[in-house]
Amino acid sequence: MNPEANQPQPVIRLRQVHRQFKVGFETVNALDGVDLDIRRGEFFGITGPSGSGKSTMLYLVGGMDRPTAGRIEVIGQDISQMDENQLAAFRRTMVGFVYQSFHLIPTMTALQNVEFPMIFSQVPRKERRERAAELLEKIGLGNRMQHKPTEMSGGQRQRVAIARALTNHPEVLLADEPTGNLDSRSGAEVVELLHELIKTQGVTVLIVSHDPAVIASTTRHIQLQDGQIQHSES
Ligand code: ADP
Ligand code: MG
Repeated sequence: MNPEANQPQPVIRLRQVHRQFKVGFETVNALDGVDLDIRRGEFFGITGPSGSGKSTMLYLVGGMDRPTAGRIEVIGQDISQMDENQLAAFRRTMVGFVYQSFHLIPTMTALQNVEFPMIFSQVPRKERRERAAELLEKIGLGNRMQHKPTEMSGGQRQRVAIARALTNHPEVLLADEPTGNLDSRSGAEVVELLHELIKTQGVTVLIVSHDPAVIASTTRHIQLQDGQIQHSES
C-alpha cells in the first residue's frame, strides 16, 4: 500500500527546487535542491545563517520569484508553471506576507493600512472598512484603528501588518523574521498571535527566524545552509 495514501495532501510541496543567481561571472545557488512537504495548520520554522536561502524560499513559495528548476505546489497548484497573470492572482488570494520592518504606509492609519490590499482585490469600500475593523478587533487593536504607525509600538505595528496580510483570506502566511525588530515580549506576543490564527483562521504559517525561542515554538522546522536543508525535526 502507498504509505502516503492516507495522508492529507500537503499545503506546500517543493520538489528539487533550485534558485540560482548570476552575479557577475559567479553563480550563487541560493536554493540547491530543496524537497519539502508542509501540512495544513503547521507553524513551520525556517532557520539558518544569513545568506543560507531563507528569504529566497519564502519568495518562491509566495510566487514573488520563480525557481530556476524544480516544482513548487501550493494546494495542488504548480505555481512554477503559472504565467504572470495567474501568479499575480495567486499572490493576491493565496498568500499573505509579513516582513521584519513591517512595511506599513506611514501616512495611513492602522485601519487604512489594513484596508489597502482590498482596494486591489476590488472589495467595495463599506465591506473593506468592516473587514479591516473586524480584523483589528480580532488581534486586539480595536482601540488603535485611527492611529498611525509612528503612534504605535513595534509589536502593535507588526500586528497591524499581520492583519493586513490576512485581508484576502490567504491559505498561507509567510513571515520573514517578523520578530527581528521587536523586544522579546512583543516578539512572543506576535508568535502567540500567529498560533492563534492557525487555530481560528485555518492558515498555515511559514516563519523565518534566527531566534531559538521562536523556532522552539514551531511545530516543525528546517535549517538551511548554503541553500540546502541541513536537518529536520518532527
Ligand atoms: P537569507 O534570507 O537566508 O539571509 P537569501 O535568501 O536572502 O538568504 O539569499 C541567499 C543567497 O542568494 C545569498 O548568497 C544572496 O546573496 C543571494 N541572493 C538573494 N537574492 C539575490 C538577488 N536578487 N541577486 C543576487 N543574489 C541574490
Ligand atoms: Mg533573509
